[in-house]
Amino acid sequence: MSLSSSTIATLRRRLAAREISPRDIITDLAGTIETRNGTLGAYLTWDVDKALAEAEKADLSLPLGGIPIGIKDNINVTGQPCTCGSRMLSENYTAPYDAGAITRLRNAGAIPFGRLNMDEFAMGSSTENSALGVTRNPHDLDRIPGGSSGGSAAAVAGNLAVATLGSDTGGSIRQPAALCGCVGIKPTYGRISRFGLVAFASSLDQIGPITRTVEDAALLLNHLCGKDPRDSTSLDVPAPDFTSALGRDIKGLRIGLPKEYFISGIHAGVSASVQAAIKKLEGLGAIPVEISLPHTDVGVSTYYIIAPAEASANLARFDGVRYGHRSAGAGDLMEHYMMSREEGFGPEVKRRILLGTYVLSSGYYDAYYLKAQRARTLIRQDFEKAFEQVDVIVSPTSPTPAHRLGELKDNPLAAYLEDIFTIPVNLAGLPGISIPCGTAEEGGRQLPVGLQIIGKPLDEANILRVADAFEKA
Ligand code: GLN
Repeated sequence: MSLSSSTIATLRRRLAAREISPRDIITDLAGTIETRNGTLGAYLTWDVDKALAEAEKADLSLPLGGIPIGIKDNINVTGQPCTCGSRMLSENYTAPYDAGAITRLRNAGAIPFGRLNMDEFAMGSSTENSALGVTRNPHDLDRIPGGSSGGSAAAVAGNLAVATLGSDTGGSIRQPAALCGCVGIKPTYGRISRFGLVAFASSLDQIGPITRTVEDAALLLNHLCGKDPRDSTSLDVPAPDFTSALGRDIKGLRIGLPKEYFISGIHAGVSASVQAAIKKLEGLGAIPVEISLPHTDVGVSTYYIIAPAEASANLARFDGVRYGHRSAGAGDLMEHYMMSREEGFGPEVKRRILLGTYVLSSGYYDAYYLKAQRARTLIRQDFEKAFEQVDVIVSPTSPTPAHRLGELKDNPLAAYLEDIFTIPVNLAGLPGISIPCGTAEEGGRQLPVGLQIIGKPLDEANILRVADAFEKA
């Protein structure tokens, strides 16, 4: 097996046995990227010399010593580009510092290697909103990898990375993981520092890993979680050893099946795979319980008020003065702002800024933003009630397998609706994982399907436990 298609766990064993060196891993990975990235478009940039220099110094006594991790291009790594898939940041921005998550990875010995494509400023679910290139699904090159962390998922699925980091505001780790057949986990809001993650919607954003196995996800989480004084929303709770949740049975565990999530309109192949997965969990001793999340129907509309509102404020900093593209043709200051932003942002980002500014403007604030905040509370309370009856909740991750490139490009509303099962998890701040659970046939191809497992706040251990039991079965 080539090193780039290995798992972290396997590489760690082989490094410890001195069968391979960190240099071998980087060299192997760089070779695969050189040959395949032209087709897949997972990476925007990668710096082999830098990674090799870090590999030479890797401390193998550390838990992730010598393991390269691909990074979504909205997470700052000192001296590297951080384009956010946008023209706004692609010309003249170099990260001046490491994000909190990167510092933690480095402290555990890992090597950040490569910058992964994404929807512009993480707005989208296909990576087609990137201003910097197309990313393809390794399972069918005519199809999207999902998004917004499409590069992160395509790299893992296409053997161009051992594991990657993504970010998830409304599904952007779980959905591309599902569409590319990977494992992707969005931890509880506040588990992982957002310091140095370019903000999209600050009350929803979380960083998380995309990996080949549940074990690798647990290994990475062990070193990513924890308080960071530079992110006031990061939680001051010690992270458990998540790997101790693995290899345990799930007998008697109560699995909630929200009746609002098992509806018509879901792709037949997705539905069949998810139902089969539920049967398998039952076979392993879990107890299915029908539950209700009555405010599911307002999740998408609530999100598409709150997320753009926060985005419109967060993206105000990209004005060409301190950050971002600076228009060459502007005369006075006002023109400078207007032209820099007009030229720097793509259509989806502009759509969100307009939406967000509108719902926050005086006269509309109460009718939209405040109402959405109330709806968000109701959605969170739905989960609180449900978790009185069950230990975890399962659902499809995405209602459909990967679309063809271009299929939803001119239909943003249809694209928004695809987030129906992932968005409520962010609105409620809960942890959620997507794991591969079979395939669905589409256009004569078998495409990956993801099973989403949602947990109580800070209960990543139980969703990893269920995911691991399912994966092993
Ligand atoms: N697809 C959703 C959106 O476009 C979620 C994106 C994300 O999680 N970053 O906003």
